[in-house]
Amino acid sequence: MSAVVRFAPSPTGLLHVGNARTALLNWLFARAAAGRFVLRFDDTDTGRSREEYVTAIETDLQWMGLDWSQVFRQSARLDRYHDALARLQQEGRVYPCYETPEELDYKRWRQINRGQPPIYDRSALRLTDAQRRSFEAEGRRPHWRFLLTADVVGWDDLVRGPVQMQADHMSDPVVVRADGSFLYLLPSMVDDIDFGITHVIRGEDHVPNTAIQVQICQALGAAAPIFAHLPLMTDIAGKGLSKRLGSLTLRSLAESGIEPMAVNSYLANLGSGEPLSVFTSLDELAANFDLRCYGRGTPKFDDAQLSGLNQRLIHESAYAVVRPQLQAMGLVHADAAFWEAVRPNLSRLSEARFWHDVCFGRIEPIMADPAFLAAAAALLPDEPWNGETWDVWTKALKAATNRKGKELFRPLRLALTGVEHGPELRALLPLIGRQAAERRLQGQDD
Ligand code: GLU
Repeated sequence: MSAVVRFAPSPTGLLHVGNARTALLNWLFARAAAGRFVLRFDDTDTGRSREEYVTAIETDLQWMGLDWSQVFRQSARLDRYHDALARLQQEGRVYPCYETPEELDYKRWRQINRGQPPIYDRSALRLTDAQRRSFEAEGRRPHWRFLLTADVVGWDDLVRGPVQMQADHMSDPVVVRADGSFLYLLPSMVDDIDFGITHVIRGEDHVPNTAIQVQICQALGAAAPIFAHLPLMTDIAGKGLSKRLGSLTLRSLAESGIEPMAVNSYLANLGSGEPLSVFTSLDELAANFDLRCYGRGTPKFDDAQLSGLNQRLIHESAYAVVRPQLQAMGLVHADAAFWEAVRPNLSRLSEARFWHDVCFGRIEPIMADPAFLAAAAALLPDEPWNGETWDVWTKALKAATNRKGKELFRPLRLALTGVEHGPELRALLPLIGRQAAERRLQGQDD
């Protein structure tokens, strides 16, 4: 049986590094196991789900390079959830409850005051038919709870190891609201069963849900999938990321110039205990992927590490890999020689635009020492220029002016590039070419 996994975002916001990591690890798991990755939108909460987020999430997953064998929405499968509900109703595994939210709050408050755990007391199970009818006559609509059995629920978690939960320490969960809408628990399990999901890989905030879902699965006569619960990420100070998630959307990372494979390499590395390495393709990442590496330690998301990895990725990217992006940026002269010259100086690909202007476009030369620069212009070798030209030229200039080191090189750099620092002039000079170099040394704008 080949692995089938799913990523199940609720379309209520943009993809951020937390849920992107869940998506990525599911995708890598499927790829490494030659299995399938299914995308499901948990959109039964019609008040909060928005169509624009469905599109945005798909776009962002594609930006990461992830693809899916199937995509569906829970809102299109309500019939299936009603079938499952009817079966559970028939078998007495769900029961109608009529308490108002205020009544439930009051019950919880009383339990807490008495030092008892705030577990639902199942009083709705003891209602007589007449009492139910009278609630209905008052216009109350029932919400439905799933009846947990008092067993210990256990599963072998691929990340946490054997987990055991005492179901009698939990409230029977509400699965259908009084307005008839489904909460997350039941539809999710129905989908996992119907779509043959073999592995559910998700955040550890779902551990209590798993205890319930294992029982729902049994009640529906199906075998539970294998579960893996990953620890949630924090920031470097160990604080939850929830407050920062707005700035940690994939959109904002992309806008700040972080490359998808830097995000993928970083998110796959976090929590794996492996040394931080940069991978240039998802296939390479998948070939190195093993879910067993991920432990229970809290992964700490560090922006500086991600930026550093982005820089390494750019430095290691071959021209063929970045060429389409350079073209898309409109850098028409960005050939292999240009890339080789500038890549050691880039921390964001967008910075290539500046160096493209230096090599092929317009800059404002800085004339630190006009007389010296005039001498330099006069000594410019004839074309054709190549990787040797810089050495030939500066050697002649050194002999003619008796300058060396910074005194020799700094004015040349400022005139030729308009800035203090940058890629090796040896590599830039042939790209700038004789005509532009001469003009700049004479202080003329391009
Ligand atoms: N929509 C749920 C969430 O985003 C899915 C959880 C699951 O993977 O089952 O938390």
